[in-house]
Amino acid sequence: MYRTHNCGELRLSDVGQEVTLSGWVQVGRDFGALTFVDLRDRYGITQLVFDSEDDAELAQQARKLGREFVIKASGLVRERTNKNPNRDTGDIEIEVKAMAVLNESKVPPFTIEEETDGGDDLRMKYRYLDLRRGPLQRNIIFRSKLAIETRKYLDSQNFVEVETPFLIKSTPEGARDFVVPSRMNSGEMYALPQSPQTFKQILMVSGYDRYFQIVKCFRDEDLRADRQPEFTQIDCEMAFVTQDEVLATFEGLTKHLFQHTIGVELPDFPRMNYNEAMKRYGSDKPDVRFEMELNDLNEVAQNKGFKVFDSAELVVGICAKGQAALSRKQIDSLIDWVKRPQIGAKGMVYVKCNDDGSYKSSVDKFYGQEDLAAWATAVGAEAGDLILVLSGEEEKTRKQMGELRLEMARRMELMKPGDFKPLWVVDFPLLEWDEEMERFHAMHHPFTSPKKEEVDRMLNGDHETMKSLRADAYDLVINGAEIGGGSIRIHDRELQEKNFKLLGFTEEEAEEQFGFLMGAFEYGAPPHGGIAFGFDRLCAVMNGQSSIRDFIAFPKNNQGRDMMIDAPSAVTADQLAELSLQMLPTEKEE
Ligand code: ASP
Repeated sequence: MYRTHNCGELRLSDVGQEVTLSGWVQVGRDFGALTFVDLRDRYGITQLVFDSEDDAELAQQARKLGREFVIKASGLVRERTNKNPNRDTGDIEIEVKAMAVLNESKVPPFTIEEETDGGDDLRMKYRYLDLRRGPLQRNIIFRSKLAIETRKYLDSQNFVEVETPFLIKSTPEGARDFVVPSRMNSGEMYALPQSPQTFKQILMVSGYDRYFQIVKCFRDEDLRADRQPEFTQIDCEMAFVTQDEVLATFEGLTKHLFQHTIGVELPDFPRMNYNEAMKRYGSDKPDVRFEMELNDLNEVAQNKGFKVFDSAELVVGICAKGQAALSRKQIDSLIDWVKRPQIGAKGMVYVKCNDDGSYKSSVDKFYGQEDLAAWATAVGAEAGDLILVLSGEEEKTRKQMGELRLEMARRMELMKPGDFKPLWVVDFPLLEWDEEMERFHAMHHPFTSPKKEEVDRMLNGDHETMKSLRADAYDLVINGAEIGGGSIRIHDRELQEKNFKLLGFTEEEAEEQFGFLMGAFEYGAPPHGGIAFGFDRLCAVMNGQSSIRDFIAFPKNNQGRDMMIDAPSAVTADQLAELSLQMLPTEKEE
């Protein structure tokens, strides 16, 4: 037998028992006659003691154990004289009577402890070692628990789990597809699904009523810390529902998950419409853990001779509470921050609200104390506060201010871990006009329904009307992270055709790509709608972390590479030939 107990379970009440443990050697410490070994498995760490006065040979063997050796040790549980209150097993140790080395280990390339000295690349290459570390194990086990609780809740609500195919048809909407050549259909490609969207809608037509799947999705996009080329969704669809019913069901799921994994009771989720979110927070996924809302200053700041503001479509400010004492250097660093290409502001104006009631601004040349007092009133600033102002084209400036608001909150440490503020953002626009390409994009996706009261305007309105159409589309936002998004869908052919047309599809293209769906709509499609949660991100947000990578057992790096198995990789000429493919020479070879 390899073990009678695991390395995390023995307590004072077990003293006197003969036990056998197996695990990895975390570290050994030699104190002359006594050798201590910390033995680790996924449940915890237990201290082993080898006494050379009892068994010199065994103690000698223990001294030779290296880090990450796999051993089996048997002995007696005894109370420790020198207890470790930071460990669940810290009151006891095992007086070892017999030991076997089950496998040796090379010296690991980084330390396998709570904090590691390994860099990102090394940890990705030796993912199996990184996955042995406590933080990663807790994340992966948390993820498992979250998936199980998801299934429990959705099952209790009558959802049916259905698998949809991974080899599907490529469509140009949305992100770039990963494609897979078909051997049996030479010259043709499958695509990996960006989401099971059309399949889950078809399942509604087929009468499954409530569908879910915890499913991999694939998008060939440029990567960031919170993006992976393959990621996981909790994907759902419901028939015969209104938006309110979808929101209620998934608010229920979210509350259940928080309660049953991290023991947090969430309050009812407030709702905010898209326009309001953009206006008050400069973002469609506002972090509402703190205020610092955007306030328009056009009225009080324009027509005082400051050209930059006078020519701007929007002058907008936020009030950073208690930040008037920021140094010149700190303010300069903020100005540099908003000027970074990722933010793209041309500059930033600030006003310090001094403790004596006076104001000091970077535009004192144009604005007197009374003017600045009016700004302070408009943004709700008091003595000791700092007002930050941006100006320019409306939409762009609001977004920039939204980013600055978040950056200030980071600097002021207003994003408290353990504080969860969920929010439904609703009433998204149906379509988004792309100035550069002179075309509409679907704000959510092409299957999203306009609000009922907008259908007529959509079928009969002019081009300008289309820009103002509102959709039954919604996002779940928690602490400024988009956790999920969905919509009520179009379920009739005429409206779906109209939407494709607005999105620039010819009739033939729409038929070629989505004829199956529109065809299905002609055979009794029920009204339906759904949502998908980003499962990886939900894991990270619930644990107060920003990167999803450490909640994925085998993630890809920023170049989309799996460093452990070294993928992607070249294939042989034979494989290519079989697929009727030919590699073009790379630049270097040419
Ligand atoms: N399929 C959508 C997405 O991946 C979610 C939904 O509309 O249900 O974002």
